[in-house]
Amino acid sequence: MQTHFSEEQLKDKDNKSSEKIFRKCVHCGFCNATCPTYQLLGDELDGPRGRIYLIKDMLENNKPANEKVVKHIDRCLSCYSCMTTCPSGVNYMHLIDHGRNHIEKTYKRPFSDRFIRNFLSVTLSKSTNFKIVLILSLFIKPFRFFFPKKIREMLDLMPGKLPNKTLPKMKVYRTEKKKKPVARVALLTGCVQKVISPQINEATIRLLNRHGIEVIVPKDIDCCGSLNHHLGKSNLANQTFKKNISIWHNEYIKNGLDAIISNTSGCGTTLKDYGFMFRSDKDLKKKAKKISELTKDISEYLEENVKLNFIKNKKNDKEYKIAYHSACSMQHGQKIHKEPINLIKKTGNQVIDIPDGHICCGSAGTYNLLQNDIAKKLLKNKISNIEKIKPQFIATGNIGCITQIANGTKIPILHTVEIIDWYTGGPKPGVLRKL
Ligand code: SF4
Ligand code: SF4
Repeated sequence: MQTHFSEEQLKDKDNKSSEKIFRKCVHCGFCNATCPTYQLLGDELDGPRGRIYLIKDMLENNKPANEKVVKHIDRCLSCYSCMTTCPSGVNYMHLIDHGRNHIEKTYKRPFSDRFIRNFLSVTLSKSTNFKIVLILSLFIKPFRFFFPKKIREMLDLMPGKLPNKTLPKMKVYRTEKKKKPVARVALLTGCVQKVISPQINEATIRLLNRHGIEVIVPKDIDCCGSLNHHLGKSNLANQTFKKNISIWHNEYIKNGLDAIISNTSGCGTTLKDYGFMFRSDKDLKKKAKKISELTKDISEYLEENVKLNFIKNKKNDKEYKIAYHSACSMQHGQKIHKEPINLIKKTGNQVIDIPDGHICCGSAGTYNLLQNDIAKKLLKNKISNIEKIKPQFIATGNIGCITQIANGTKIPILHTVEIIDWYTGGPKPGVLRKL
């Protein structure tokens, strides 16, 4: 694709990177074939190629965003299916991030949009705030019919009760006494995940500790920053990124870290991009790169580094048919697909592919809250594809997908790490008690 940025414009680091990406695009449109919004809406501007043109036009011509551009960019799920399909290696993720930041700087959204986006930014990225909202939602839920559609849709996605915690809140989770740890890792517990599904972090910690790995959870790290990043709120996101980089890097230098573990693939994708985001920051460049290099999804870390001790007993000797849902941030964002499937297969269960498994379930961070109509259609298609293969339960590696899919089916869904924990000596996951 030809570009027409001036030399002055190319002094800006983001323009410079985006220009290189635009040049790689050969307009072939292969990406449209696997884009969920293009498939549903059939409009060129709701596909990756059309969005690339919209972003290019704004940046090259220094144009402020307008209502039309915002509509089509907002409809993008950031699922990155287009990146897996693109034969030219176009990094659409960096383009859409740049486009969203430009929109946030140059476009004034209607009041209701601004209110909802600010509300999500304040509540979801801080676990304490989110917990307060969750408790309030429990009281409001019975009266949901009195609220506007948008609020009703948000309430529907909130869990019906506060989950129980079984592990104490600590900074360091040590391995069995007297044994020297074989490795030391930091765990990102996630701002939303630790409130609504603490059992995922608990299973991760138990499993790692049982295999001789010490786990640290720095108390000042809450969110990875991706919620604000995807809302285009770059200042807020940058504050979080910088704080996280500094805390983890200090820990790495002072006490040593073999990895930073993410058990939410949406967050892991962002951590792995810290290096790119701070590529021109002379103070943080090297540190951010190190954090990205250290980041591993839990399935990637277990498959590559841990000799798992599977235990067969009466409680887990039944063979289950499990549908593996590959979260977009996992398969397209991090290119991790085989690892979780291999891990689940090692438990002796049958893992089956979901038809059209490359297409998003509609969760996509805050997408199911902001673009509920499209998200519902994607969920309906996903559930229909899952139910066709009749699994006993579903496994995945991302809390957003777990919440979204659980909203559309009675088939139990759980995190991959909960299965591995169970088959290596941990408790049977609560959602499977009736199976
Ligand atoms: S990220 Fe997903 S929704 Fe957005 S353009 Fe690419 S394939 Fe389409
Ligand atoms: S597949 Fe890649 S090269 Fe082809 S139009 Fe899409 S982004 Fe451009």
